[in-house]
Amino acid sequence: MAKSSRKPSAGDLEGYYVFKAAARAKDKGPRPASEAPPAPAPPPGRSEPTVKGHFRSTAMPTKHEVVCHQCGREFQITGKTTHTFCPQCRTRLEFKEVDIEGEWLQPVLTSGRVRIGPRAVLPDADIVANDIVVEGRVEKGRLRATRELHLHRADALGEEAVLTARDLFLHAGVDLKLGEAYTATNYTVGGSVEGNLTTGGRVHIEAAGGFRGALACPHLSVDEGGGLVGTVKIVPPPPPAPKPDPAPAPKPAPTKPTAAKRRRRGP
Ligand SMILES: [Zn+2]
Repeated sequence: MAKSSRKPSAGDLEGYYVFKAAARAKDKGPRPASEAPPAPAPPPGRSEPTVKGHFRSTAMPTKHEVVCHQCGREFQITGKTTHTFCPQCRTRLEFKEVDIEGEWLQPVLTSGRVRIGPRAVLPDADIVANDIVVEGRVEKGRLRATRELHLHRADALGEEAVLTARDLFLHAGVDLKLGEAYTATNYTVGGSVEGNLTTGGRVHIEAAGGFRGALACPHLSVDEGGGLVGTVKIVPPPPPAPKPDPAPAPKPAPTKPTAAKRRRRGP
């Protein structure tokens, strides 16, 4: 391991300890790197760009999970690349990173990450991406994240905004009424959330989070300090979908017409 065998020199000692502290914090509660909001720009006069740069390059994941927007296949890629092909449906997947600020009207389709910045306004969104981070405002339209969708503020969504995600993160500051317009498999609640929530996936309520309403899911976890008021049903997970047989055996054709007549269809 490069980072343990290399002795930190005096010049990057501070960066080394920053990395160690970050690793310890990560052990307490691992979260995806993309969940962390971008670090605010340091005030002029006390910037430490070398320390930050060192930390970022060391902690960068080498493997990256991709979910095909066409067929839903999940797979890993390693290293940096501009595009790949889905191993299941062969769709070409582009890894464009899109950073939106100001008013944005264009549709976006990428297997990279889209960040809707704090000053961004989308009057009628049409965004499909692997990961979507919303720090701005989406008046209406649809956001579809094949992987993670992060909401960071209370008024992020207008009433006509439609969300679909595999993992929906409702961070601190979010104040949301769940409705039919929001669909996800896994929910992480760090803000204030109300409504009826039924999912076959995981629900996690963080220390600063609160859920009020009716909750039904197979996997529920609540951090110490997290709030939960309402009804809870822990239901067993749905049975795994049967994998399609690559070469199904042909069914023997009925030899007698009478046998075919007697076959019952359904219960
Ligand atoms: Zn595919």
